[in-house]
Amino acid sequence: MKITAVNVYPLSAPIREPFRFSQARVGTRVALLVEIETDEGIVGWGEGYGPPRLLASVVENYAELLVGADPLAGDAIWEALYNRLRDHGQKGVVIQGLSAVDIALWDIRGKAFGVPVHRLMGGPLRTEVQAYATGLYLKDWDDPAIGLADEAAGYVEEGFKAMKLKVGFGIDHDVRMTDAVRGAIGDHAALMIDANHGYDAVSAIALGRRIEHHRIGWFEEPVPPEDLRGYREVKAALSIPVAGGECEFTRFGFRDILAERMFDVVQPDTCAAGGLTECKKIADMAAAFGVRYVPHVWGTGIAIATALQLLAVVPRNPPGLYPNEPMMEFDQSEHPFRFEVTPRISHRDGIVQVPTGPGLGIEVDRDAVMHYRMG
Ligand code: CA
Repeated sequence: MKITAVNVYPLSAPIREPFRFSQARVGTRVALLVEIETDEGIVGWGEGYGPPRLLASVVENYAELLVGADPLAGDAIWEALYNRLRDHGQKGVVIQGLSAVDIALWDIRGKAFGVPVHRLMGGPLRTEVQAYATGLYLKDWDDPAIGLADEAAGYVEEGFKAMKLKVGFGIDHDVRMTDAVRGAIGDHAALMIDANHGYDAVSAIALGRRIEHHRIGWFEEPVPPEDLRGYREVKAALSIPVAGGECEFTRFGFRDILAERMFDVVQPDTCAAGGLTECKKIADMAAAFGVRYVPHVWGTGIAIATALQLLAVVPRNPPGLYPNEPMMEFDQSEHPFRFEVTPRISHRDGIVQVPTGPGLGIEVDRDAVMHYRMG
């Protein structure tokens, strides 16, 4: 089999009710989809997490290495693409573009053998995954404490056993919102917080101390991704587990974080950190270093199916009769085409099934892709 074409689709759509996290106001949802065609008629789809037009140019730069290559030779292609641009980008958009290509190649391989990707990766270790709701962003409510409490109660009603609240808006505000959300969901649902690196270590520790009694599942990106010593300070000062890694890339980037145990939970995004090929390696490294692995997930049904294929093979950590199983991040915020470009992936009582169809296990609707394509 040979690759015959590589197509890129930057997508975008405005949303009705913009929302904020500590770094930005979201008024538009975007994605970069990659479609790889072969001479046997098999087509693979992938998604990159990052600025769509920048990722598209990276993927176009890889295309001349891809066309004519054997799509079954996954690690070989990964190394060739990585080496192509490594002198110019070992992190960021270069690796995000590589991730999209790698995922599309896995989709082709699964379809070629007629099995889901997780079978080719040696799974399944699990056929379903507990999801946590990502939402609880700040919107233009009159009283955000009431708005967030209502939204959080809705997730419990829907069956979610865990959810994540955005912080990083100022310590007093964050404490009030955390109090309100914990009050609304009771003690039985897990609650995590995410500052999107909106604090320095001093402020992160100050916030953590004031909400530790709420049994916070983890404190995500308390400090900027470059400030690994800051991570270590936060981790030493608080009883709350510290999570991060959606802004880190490849096994090389995670090597020192894992060896030095900077984080309690690593969160590589499969569509950003190097694709399924690289994230399986990072997951195995995390298990070797005794660090939890819970992937960051943000995108369309392609990104979600990709995360589920990987989650089916993330090692138990530590193994046992009652292991600590990895969760799936399930974005519940407004997204016009999350499940327009693929069939809907749903949860039942907070549990999501790993897709079992060939490849990523989803069909991509090309008409929907064309509809949301950036002009
Ligand atoms: Ca995050």
